[in-house]
Amino acid sequence: MTRVLIVEDEDHLAAGLKLNLEAEGYAADVDDTGEAALERLVDGGAAANAFDVVLLDVMLPGLDGFEVVRRLREARQFVPVMLLTARSHTDDVLRGFEAGADDYLPKPFDLSILLARIRGLLRRRRWLRGNDAGQAAEADEYSFAGRHVDFRNQVLRRDRAEQPLTLMEATLLRYLVQHAGETVSRRTLLEEVWGVRQDTDTRTVDNFVARLRRYIEAEPAQPRHLLTVRGVGYRFVVEPGE
Ligand code: CA
Repeated sequence: MTRVLIVEDEDHLAAGLKLNLEAEGYAADVDDTGEAALERLVDGGAAANAFDVVLLDVMLPGLDGFEVVRRLREARQFVPVMLLTARSHTDDVLRGFEAGADDYLPKPFDLSILLARIRGLLRRRRWLRGNDAGQAAEADEYSFAGRHVDFRNQVLRRDRAEQPLTLMEATLLRYLVQHAGETVSRRTLLEEVWGVRQDTDTRTVDNFVARLRRYIEAEPAQPRHLLTVRGVGYRFVVEPGE
């Protein structure tokens, strides 16, 4: 059963979400502070990995949602996190992704939209792990130019250093690797990787590419693998000069 952790300080909202998710066949728990969620997800022992998705409100008493997701990632807790934001300012969205969130949803939202986005997150994780029903098993690992990516465990190894990847980082890298040598547009990446079809600021893509470059490029400012195609998007190149 899919297990969702709701981190929301407004009681009626948390209770309503829990009720609706349970009606849809999910198991749901509620924490009303970021501190409580961190205690559960980081220090909770075996129970820390009991959740498939975390719905994390940004505006919380004490630690806010940005700080909570940042601390989760710092503690190498990579459960998919969807931020629930009161505003959908681009700055907030980028800040959330930068902190390590996997998706965001502006409040107020329709339940049907929330459910679709949760399904999207779960689908992305299955795709990343290559065990989507009916889908040919794909390699869980990929090596290029001395870098080794373990998609299942969301980690990139380079010169014995280990860089954990968020779900979004790993999904974007996997998509680029699968389309190596092809130019892919920002719009296509938003649709295929983020599952976003409405008009969204494509700077989110640039922001993530910059992060991946820091992980995989010897000189991120002079990329040799993850190239910018001016006015279009990006191209992943396995062997520079190809
Ligand atoms: Ca709140």
